[in-house]
Amino acid sequence: MSLPPMEFNQKRWNRLLLQGYWVLSLVTVGVELLYMYFVSNETKSEFLSRYVLLPTLLTTAVVGSAELAIRKMHAKSHDYILITASALLAFIVSAVHASLNYLLFFLFFPIMISIFYFQYKKLAYAIANTLAALIVLYVFNPAIHDRISFVGLITMTVLLAVYSVIAFGVLTRGREALQHLRSTYESNQELLVRTIMMDKLAKTDALTNTYNHMAYHEYVEKLVEQADNGRLKLQIAVLDIDNFKKVNDTYGHRAGDAVLREVAAIARAQVGPNDFVARYGGEEFVILFTEIDVSHAYQIAEEIRETVSQTTHEALNGMAVTVSIGINRYRPGMGKERLFQGADAALYEAKKTGKNRTVLAEGVPAGFGQETASAMS
Ligand code: GH3
Ligand code: MG
Ligand code: MG
Repeated sequence: MSLPPMEFNQKRWNRLLLQGYWVLSLVTVGVELLYMYFVSNETKSEFLSRYVLLPTLLTTAVVGSAELAIRKMHAKSHDYILITASALLAFIVSAVHASLNYLLFFLFFPIMISIFYFQYKKLAYAIANTLAALIVLYVFNPAIHDRISFVGLITMTVLLAVYSVIAFGVLTRGREALQHLRSTYESNQELLVRTIMMDKLAKTDALTNTYNHMAYHEYVEKLVEQADNGRLKLQIAVLDIDNFKKVNDTYGHRAGDAVLREVAAIARAQVGPNDFVARYGGEEFVILFTEIDVSHAYQIAEEIRETVSQTTHEALNGMAVTVSIGINRYRPGMGKERLFQGADAALYEAKKTGKNRTVLAEGVPAGFGQETASAMS
């Protein structure tokens, strides 16, 4: 697992930047108009065409083109388009005004924009843009060439270097913070995964890969609580392998283990996704059925019993084992002990009356014929 890269949410930021450019263009027009009414001595029509109409046309063309380019071109180029647009905007404003103050103010615009992307190559691209704009302005705009002294130019260059270093520092600091966040996040993830694994191990029976005794108690308590509130149907089945001591004595402990695994796998395969199979201990399993009626639980238990009795085992030279099952239905207020004891008593009844049977603590549920009933309990 890793944190999203720096490009995360870039589309939204680029949109915001572009909207910012539109606002900036509007604000520039507004400021020029204010200036014209309150300060300027030039004739209005001359001022309007030079400082309002021309720059407005140019900035609209730049931002409009950027808008189009972003719609048409691949996302990879969007950041460069926006940096270039910022350099062009800065160039237009500086060229129109041809004063050192404007140059100083606007030519660093691309560098500031590039900080948004937290990438050195984009900062370098922005610095190159700013430099190019500065050189073009100086060489081709006579007003700037004549008005700005050599010292002014040196000041510009020094400031450009200082801004670049600051931008570089901000960028490095941001990347460091991200790296730190990333490693903390990753170690937290690892820890979380390890905790989940440990938790799963602590709740699993290693031999049969079902839940263990401890997990059974934990779950049954929670389920009983839900069942007491009337929010859940709950049935329990206690399953015990018949004559298992003999299996061990005849075929060995390892063969017995293989049978345990197989029986557990059959039980797991027959129950539903909301049911819970645990090894209670030795060759005894419990199944908690949730959200189904006792007759349905009985039916599943019978399927398990039948499947086990028909499954032969290599370890037992092709013999099968059988299981006896006792079932009990949870009634509110019963508690987990009485729930289990009821099923255990039914299991005892099944053993006593010939084994390979399913017995219900309350008798055979409705829907099962008398024949089946007498055969099973
Ligand atoms: P019943 O039909 O009445 O249940 O008779 P049983 O022989 O199955 O019952 P009993 O309680 O006398 O014997 C259970 C046996 O299960 C005894 C023990 O050696 C065996 N057993 C318990 N845990 C394991 C295990 O993890 N592996 C193996 N191979 N055997 C186990
Ligand atoms: Mg047994
Ligand atoms: Mg037993």
